[in-house]
Amino acid sequence: WSSGNFPWTKKLEANNKKVFGNHSFRPNQREVINATMSGYDVFVLMPTGGGKSLTYQLPALISPGITLVISPLVSLIQDQIMHLLQANIPAAYLSASMEWNEQQEILRELSSCKYKLLYATPEKVAKSDVLMRNLDNLHARELLSRIVIDEAHCVSQWGHDFRPDYQGLGILKQKFPNTPVLALTATATASVKEDVVQALGLVNCIIFRQSFNRPNLWYSVLPKTRKCLDDIDKFIRENHFDECGIIYCLSRLDCEKVAERLQECGHKAAFYHGSMDPARRAFVQKQWSKDEINIICATVAFGMGINKPDVRFVIHHSLPKSIEGYHQECGRAGRDGQRSSCVLYYSYSDYIRVKHMITQGVVEQSPLASGQNRSNMASSGRILETNTENLLRMVSYCENDVDCRRLLQLVHFGEKFDSAHCKKTCDNCLKIKSFVEKDVTEIAKQLVELVKLTREQFSSSHILEVYRGSLSQYVKKHRHETLGLHAAGKHLAKGEASRILRHLVTEDFLMEDVKKSDIYGSVSSVLKVNESKVYKLFSGGQKIILRFPSSAKSSKLSNFEA
Ligand code: ADP
Ligand code: ZN
Repeated sequence: WSSGNFPWTKKLEANNKKVFGNHSFRPNQREVINATMSGYDVFVLMPTGGGKSLTYQLPALISPGITLVISPLVSLIQDQIMHLLQANIPAAYLSASMEWNEQQEILRELSSCKYKLLYATPEKVAKSDVLMRNLDNLHARELLSRIVIDEAHCVSQWGHDFRPDYQGLGILKQKFPNTPVLALTATATASVKEDVVQALGLVNCIIFRQSFNRPNLWYSVLPKTRKCLDDIDKFIRENHFDECGIIYCLSRLDCEKVAERLQECGHKAAFYHGSMDPARRAFVQKQWSKDEINIICATVAFGMGINKPDVRFVIHHSLPKSIEGYHQECGRAGRDGQRSSCVLYYSYSDYIRVKHMITQGVVEQSPLASGQNRSNMASSGRILETNTENLLRMVSYCENDVDCRRLLQLVHFGEKFDSAHCKKTCDNCLKIKSFVEKDVTEIAKQLVELVKLTREQFSSSHILEVYRGSLSQYVKKHRHETLGLHAAGKHLAKGEASRILRHLVTEDFLMEDVKKSDIYGSVSSVLKVNESKVYKLFSGGQKIILRFPSSAKSSKLSNFEA
């Protein structure tokens, strides 16, 4: 597809320079354009900032008729249209929130082919018969040249930005089977990709993907303690003082607290979240773009369509909700290719907190996913399952202190990666621990046993205390010092026992059952046993092997086995 001998090649080159002002093509742009211009359905996975827009705007310009672009957010659409109009490319959009008269006007101009590109939100396609009739009419006159689905991962329930209206887009291929479809996304795992191809009804689809590795981003996961804000202040002061960065926080209140604290420490920081009024949000964003503010403390509502090239750090103040989301949020750092830091502060208790928020449907979502049905969706079966599963994968990423962070992320996207290419740009590679693999199946069984013995009514930290032989008042109150397994793991270092227990959670042998919050809004959680999984452990069919640093002085795991 990289050939320069297609009938449209000359026009393509000329317009890329003249209209878009580009000297050349970026990786895969020419290939994608050639494939879609040849009439194929095409699926494009390209990292944020890779230049997806050009792959349909340029074909739209040199094709007869109109290109229909489905895009999830009116703000993104407006931004695109502004750029197109600046380049003298006629474009318009339709959204559900528009005045009726205005819509009529656009549809009239559409049928007289005044535009090269028409943008629409997915709900517009799903709900507007008038639009459909107009598209039918254009199609009959052979003037519907291409259909573009931007942010195509929103189609999939497995993705982290599922949006119900996207699922109805399959109708387009049914109605216009011969019109080529171009689906674009910056984030998709193999299962999301399958889902998208199927839901959109793409046939003989050609897939372009490029590596999601970002060599200039340095990844690390640090323990989140009570003095996390001091740690963040120190980290910025020592590594990125007066540089630009984003701190992602879980709740709106967190954003405000973190920003306030950093201001006290002398940083130019501000907060940004969904419940601020739009004018204030736009103001903060502008200040940040103009470097009047260095640090934005934000929920995931911040970041879409932001193209600031010199973001030097992205800090996660709490656990991200999925590896895909995490990768995308980190991806906002270092667009200019310069070295940038991605630091995640992790604590297991944040897992409990986020899990609770997901169950309650109160997590702030990225604007992509914020369809109207958000709140009732959060608690509905399969979505909840997907979200919970995504979160567990994220916990497992954080708990892993051995494998290359790049490798862990890229494997998630179905990409092969040799960790030698990381060149010690992640915390785990940097530590180059020599490690030993240990069979911890017996310990795992005892921990499961202990959860059962205490009738699945206690938290993971309590289970660990009992296992390691604590004689605290709370232990005695429940007479847990009398259990056969009390102190069975007394020779284990605390970190080792908890790693094994958490592994049992991330691998679904045990489940955290988050209980209702008390009046102060805090949440508690008890461990439950997943019988359908643990039976394999007890029937001898499954072993649990974990890696431990071989240097750890405290490790008595081998004694245990002996
Ligand atoms: P994406 O949608 O993949 O995140 P965009 O389409 O918004 O990326 O492009 C990101 C930036 O790269 C834009 O500022 C765009 O003008 C620029 N760009 C795209 N293609 C090229 C190219 N071939 N040469 C130079 N700049 C480009
Ligand atoms: Zn690495």
